[in-house]
Amino acid sequence: MSDRYRHGPDRILVAEDDQDARRYITQVLAGRAGFDVTTAPTAAATLDLLRSQRWDVILTDIEMPGMTGLELLSEARLLAPGTPVAVITAHATVSNAVGAVRGNADDFLEKPLRPDDLVSAVRRMLALRRADGQRVLAIGAHPDDVEIGAAGVLLAHRAAGDSVSILTLSHGARGGVTDARAAEARKAAQLIGATLHLEHMADTRIPEGDPTISAIAAVVRDEQPTVLYTHSLHDVHQDHRNTHRAAMVAAREVATVYCFQSPSATTDFRPSRFMDIDAQLTGKLAAIDAFASQTAVRDYLEPDLIEATARYWSRFADGRYAEAFEVIRDGAAGPAAGDRAGISVGPARGRQLAEGGSYATA
Ligand SMILES: [Zn+2]
Repeated sequence: MSDRYRHGPDRILVAEDDQDARRYITQVLAGRAGFDVTTAPTAAATLDLLRSQRWDVILTDIEMPGMTGLELLSEARLLAPGTPVAVITAHATVSNAVGAVRGNADDFLEKPLRPDDLVSAVRRMLALRRADGQRVLAIGAHPDDVEIGAAGVLLAHRAAGDSVSILTLSHGARGGVTDARAAEARKAAQLIGATLHLEHMADTRIPEGDPTISAIAAVVRDEQPTVLYTHSLHDVHQDHRNTHRAAMVAAREVATVYCFQSPSATTDFRPSRFMDIDAQLTGKLAAIDAFASQTAVRDYLEPDLIEATARYWSRFADGRYAEAFEVIRDGAAGPAAGDRAGISVGPARGRQLAEGGSYATA
């Protein structure tokens, strides 16, 4: 059994100028239902919080000082794409403005708000979001593998409202004190907004058969991913190759499968899918920096190398920074998630490596 770490309670942002209403909503959603609630009293504070943090649900009063309900809603759509927004109004009016807001919101709540109604509205929106989005699973052999290869695209999935899980098969004992590395892995997952599954396999001895296949299959059963990221087969590290092979068996029913690049990838690593991570580079560097016990001794974790690698791959993409992936399978699910995240996963750009970029998985 792997250890499982949720990234904490669902985070609710409440934009509300009335102090009593703020207090009441917090009491109900945090006190009773256990959500992580943050309130903002003005439009400016709301926009700051939308820009700087990730939210699972947004509740907003229809008129905030300095902004109309419709303006606030469209800003929220822009800054937190994929995040459900419910609009709260003091009394149901029939004005065009209210109608427009109602048409654009995911839910529309009328004051007075009964506690049960408020909680169930938030739960409904969380379910809506989960049903809507992609479920992403990234599998790495050691702590930091997933972050180096795909943290940018995982952050983009989160921004698009997709759920993200990371499965790390070992604590990486050969590379440092295991407790410290487990704590670092948890911190990195938290920064990405991912649920972490941490297995206890022996570093450098991860087999390609069982128990690796069973461990991956168990997480696949739990998380039901629609998109999978894992190691490339083109890698000198046996743990990475075996993780790849085991994942191909255990996740054979996942529609979309991409392979990321590790520092130990060989020159046979031939990506054909390039995803812009301009907006995620800072977050990616922060996630990698979480592996503090390693950053001092491992050259491949140096920020300038991470950045330069992403800068290099951007020659096949649109932006300044990109992550590169080999394509094993490209189900309909993958590109949609990418498009919503503003990452270019459409038909590969630049030099399309045609079928040469992927390889048989039999
Ligand atoms: Zn590794």
